[in-house]
Amino acid sequence: MSHRREVVIGHTVLGRSIEAVHFTPPSYARERPPALLFGAIHGDEAVTQLMLERLADELVERPPGRDTWIVPCVNVDGVLAGTRNNANDVDLNRNFASASWGTQRRPGYHPGKAAEDQPETQAIVALIERTGAHRLIAVHATYRMINWDGGGEPLAHELAERCGYPVERDMGYPTPGSFGTKYGVEQQREVVTFEVPYLGVDERAWTDCRTALRWCVDLPA
Ligand SMILES: [Zn+2]
Repeated sequence: MSHRREVVIGHTVLGRSIEAVHFTPPSYARERPPALLFGAIHGDEAVTQLMLERLADELVERPPGRDTWIVPCVNVDGVLAGTRNNANDVDLNRNFASASWGTQRRPGYHPGKAAEDQPETQAIVALIERTGAHRLIAVHATYRMINWDGGGEPLAHELAERCGYPVERDMGYPTPGSFGTKYGVEQQREVVTFEVPYLGVDERAWTDCRTALRWCVDLPA
């Protein structure tokens, strides 16, 4: 059994808890830099929360091979409201303090009044600072692809082999203030973004990606 504990890492605009599940790995695996996986930074992508909750359940039986933090749902208010943005109508994936924050705005993608002024963004930023997480996995919906930033290219290709999705270099449009820009492009961490389809009746997103998600935390298939 792995050591699993639940931690509140912050609160949303409306005061709801943002929860992480932390797995302490066996001693042989402690030298690998910590991994953070998060979902539902966009509230209309609840499938990503379900997938990471399943992964966290599976890891109870078999410990991951590195220190692992899973935040199944960053934008708790947005998921409950069914909105992409948070309760302040900010797109959290445009709110990170990259050098490009607030430039090239597009309708609907509100970056906030200032970089990292939203509590959900602050919770993720603080968790990365506190843990030193270097492998950073963002799960979004609803394309079928994997993309990467910074040092994430080798891992992106390993994951693509395991889920059968193509690797795309970028989303095809500018993403100022995005998580990948700050932590991948600017800080050269190992950033990979999954884009998964909706779960659907056949649970395709989970069956496609289960092995790849386990690979992210050094768990054999
Ligand atoms: Zn998204």
